[in-house]
Amino acid sequence: MSGFPPNLFAGRRYAVVGLGRAGLTSLRALSAMGAAVTGWDDAPFAREAAAREGFAIEDPSAELRDLTALVLSPGIAHTLPVPHRIAANARAAGTPILTDAELLFQAVRAAGSRARFAGITGTNGKSTTTALLAHILRCAGVPYEAGANLGPAALSLSLLTDDGVYVLEMSSYMLERLATLRFDAACMLNLSPDHLDRHGDMDGYAAAKRQIFARQTGNDTAVIGIDDAFTAAMAAQYPRCVRISGHQHADVWSDRFTLRDCLGTLAILRQARALPGVHNAQNAAAAAAMALALGVGRAPIEDGIRTFPGLPHRQEMVGEMDGIHFINDSKATNADATARALQCYDKVVWIAGGIAKAGGIEPLAPYFSRVAEALLIGRDAAAFAATLAAHNVAHRVVETLDRAVPEARDAARSHDVATVLLSPACASFDQFSGFEARGTRFGELVHALAAAGAA
Ligand code: ADP
Repeated sequence: MSGFPPNLFAGRRYAVVGLGRAGLTSLRALSAMGAAVTGWDDAPFAREAAAREGFAIEDPSAELRDLTALVLSPGIAHTLPVPHRIAANARAAGTPILTDAELLFQAVRAAGSRARFAGITGTNGKSTTTALLAHILRCAGVPYEAGANLGPAALSLSLLTDDGVYVLEMSSYMLERLATLRFDAACMLNLSPDHLDRHGDMDGYAAAKRQIFARQTGNDTAVIGIDDAFTAAMAAQYPRCVRISGHQHADVWSDRFTLRDCLGTLAILRQARALPGVHNAQNAAAAAAMALALGVGRAPIEDGIRTFPGLPHRQEMVGEMDGIHFINDSKATNADATARALQCYDKVVWIAGGIAKAGGIEPLAPYFSRVAEALLIGRDAAAFAATLAAHNVAHRVVETLDRAVPEARDAARSHDVATVLLSPACASFDQFSGFEARGTRFGELVHALAAAGAA
């Protein structure tokens, strides 16, 4: 975080509870702006990390009434399923419970900047759309800062002048903890059942997500996807919204080949190598609609969509050998995400497995005809093998990614298939520290194989 005056928040008092990456960033940023801060985390190692940086560590329960606000990590519940003890006390004391993005907004306005805010939420595609809008702004020469839920924490972003735009990825947990943040352009991509333990039911989840539009005025823009029943119903409640779709007529939509609005073509989607599939057409429509709302011209939008490099681990092309493309979709930790990827290729050698989610890969049966052969890794390989056998799909249990990659290359050659797809439909924790480590290892193995082949 830079550019904010050191006395901006003088006289304010905050307790930051939950000292992960964003919590530590909040402590640093708020104290750098002159606020009095204390930190707390139930985990001793997290408290020790903050104490080592010189921050006062204390359970704020006794002094909640004296606080300007409690800054609560998005990972900690303040209502369902069970409110954290400190959050419950704060509610009883009438102390505001805020998220760091709210404090960024307050800091920007307190510093006198009229920089605009774009907020993106939805169940899927938030990170891609956030990164794509940021890339379009870069192409347009608009100063921007991007982050929040993914990427840099909100309070690590720098102060922008009036012509700048903050692009914030907002989770439902963050949206529940806003007070004054008003988005000049706000987007709801899609909704499917998720995180219902924290929101009670679909209505609660949708209500939290709808906060992305709270406080918007007639000059602001609401962008809403119409490709699922929940957001289509929401769009009907916001008659002035910009409706977007990845495959059907709307205000900004894709006809599979081009991205269009009422004035004509915005981008040729075939040229957007990092945005394959109908789901990414929805993300492109969302980013384009928001960019238009922010006053960006059509040429930089076209340029940005065409040259977007994509995000790591999301259908990322990590190598090519003898005409075989190796695609890293390690972020696909459930069958739904893997379905998006399988839809994009006619024939693949598919690397899957790990710790399966409920239902396994049975929901992927409609795409099994696209699988020339599956190579299975990880804890639940045997269960996946049983599903594939029942559907007569060729498969082998290879157990590890290290074995899977060379065998996938050989299988692609023998089946004359041009795509090797790592899209595990599984969590990775049986063999890796997370989906990033799994995807990074895949890339390393592909590069090693290519180097060995070239030698
Ligand atoms: P999020 O930040 O919401 O988790 P990402 O942009 O990181 O979303 O994408 C994660 C995965 O979700 C992708 O690998 C893809 O499988 C799927 N996905 C991306 N965009 C969409 C979309 N618009 N609709 C449905 N699924 C999507």
